[in-house]
Amino acid sequence: MSASHNPSSASATNAVVTRFAPSPTGFLHIGNARTGLFSWLYARHHGGTALLRVEDTDKTRSTQGAIDVILDGLEWLGLDWDGKVHFQSEFEKRHAEVAHQLIERGAAYRCYLTPQELAKRREKAQAERRPFRIESEWRDCSSDGPEDAPFVVRLKAPREGETAIDDLVQGRVAVANAEIDDFVLLRSDGTPTYMLAVVVDDHDMGVTHIIRGDDHLNNAFRQLAIIRAMDWPEPAYAHIPLIHGPDGAKLSKRHGALGVHDYRETGILPEALFNYLLRLGWGHGDDEIISREQAIAWFDLDHVGKSPSRFDLKKLESLNAHYIREADDTRLAGLVAGRLGLGETDIELLVRAMPELKARAHDLNQLADGARFLFARRPLAMGEGAAALLTPESRALLRAAHQALCKVATWEHDELETVVREVADQAGVKLGKLAQPLRAALTGRSTSPGIFDVLALLGQCESLDRIADQMVEPNE
Ligand code: GLU
Repeated sequence: MSASHNPSSASATNAVVTRFAPSPTGFLHIGNARTGLFSWLYARHHGGTALLRVEDTDKTRSTQGAIDVILDGLEWLGLDWDGKVHFQSEFEKRHAEVAHQLIERGAAYRCYLTPQELAKRREKAQAERRPFRIESEWRDCSSDGPEDAPFVVRLKAPREGETAIDDLVQGRVAVANAEIDDFVLLRSDGTPTYMLAVVVDDHDMGVTHIIRGDDHLNNAFRQLAIIRAMDWPEPAYAHIPLIHGPDGAKLSKRHGALGVHDYRETGILPEALFNYLLRLGWGHGDDEIISREQAIAWFDLDHVGKSPSRFDLKKLESLNAHYIREADDTRLAGLVAGRLGLGETDIELLVRAMPELKARAHDLNQLADGARFLFARRPLAMGEGAAALLTPESRALLRAAHQALCKVATWEHDELETVVREVADQAGVKLGKLAQPLRAALTGRSTSPGIFDVLALLGQCESLDRIADQMVEPNE
């Protein structure tokens, strides 16, 4: 974490202050992660402050586990936040205080309409086929309701004119004030609604730019009504389109994994997901591979598209393959060792094998799978493709190879290549005819890194033993 900032002094100097405000839902949705990424990048690009506020007012969902999932996911993606993490639930008293200030200003009122009364009015409106709007007789009443009767606090929403927002992504969006009803600020149990809490917190945290999903655009008009009633500075808004699935429908479970953790588990590297989410909805010319530093240098809201972007797993995988190839071999070996349950002593072999292994994997699970043969115990189980390569003819070739390889004094790639080629030549077959059964014997698979690399990695003794295991028919 970078040094703590003082948001109020930041706003006093017009510096950018953004916030990411996830609600704990049990997982970090990739769409939310992208919102977090954009908020973070915008602040970093402008040398401003990136704040994180966990909106934990829903007590049933906001378990420590659900909060940790969000914090872990963000940390894994490399998004660090300035100052401490804010928790919305800590500010409930302050939310209520602002609701009461609004009443004092004549901008909000205590409404004693009961839920039953409201339901009756809603039904009546439905029966008469007219839209239901709260028209509370308490709006302009200067007296309080019956003693001890429960009440909610409602905003006296403006009724004339329109409210417009110059959204940094959506452009100018306006709504007739007649559409905005007197929504609730404080519930009858005294707890604040999301609409009030978010405005108070954004104000108190000195937030200058609200970057979030466009599912919140409608809320922005209501939130502005509170901000204006309090005479607070208005933040800039940037509502980014949601992510859709490849079929154009809003991304949902049926499109596959939704959580950042799911991608982490399949073995997507954080820098690949960072790059992918960045490009999903934002562009910088034709650049596809964008480093964290470039992202900070280039990110702006002008190039965030207005229409929803489509999630494309193939593209994510190909970016991931790129980042795997670029990644440090020791780091990759550590990640793979964890997946294969290997110990410290196996890491050295993994690191040596990594340049070959990583050229063929688009995620860490695949990378781990490709590394498995290195640690397999003899006699190796033959996979289906490998078993098919072991015929009486190819076993004879293996015997010839075994004989020649026994005599190799310098067990190195080039020397091994010379010897194996000679064996093929002498048998009058193409190299592939020998390389394929050799690969099967050495790895139990029909695909692997180059056969001379495999021999070199396994070492002379293990290679010869694995070949010997397969050079005769099992029941011969
Ligand atoms: N907590 C809200 C959510 O997760 C976001 C609120 C906001 O950004 O204003 O959707």
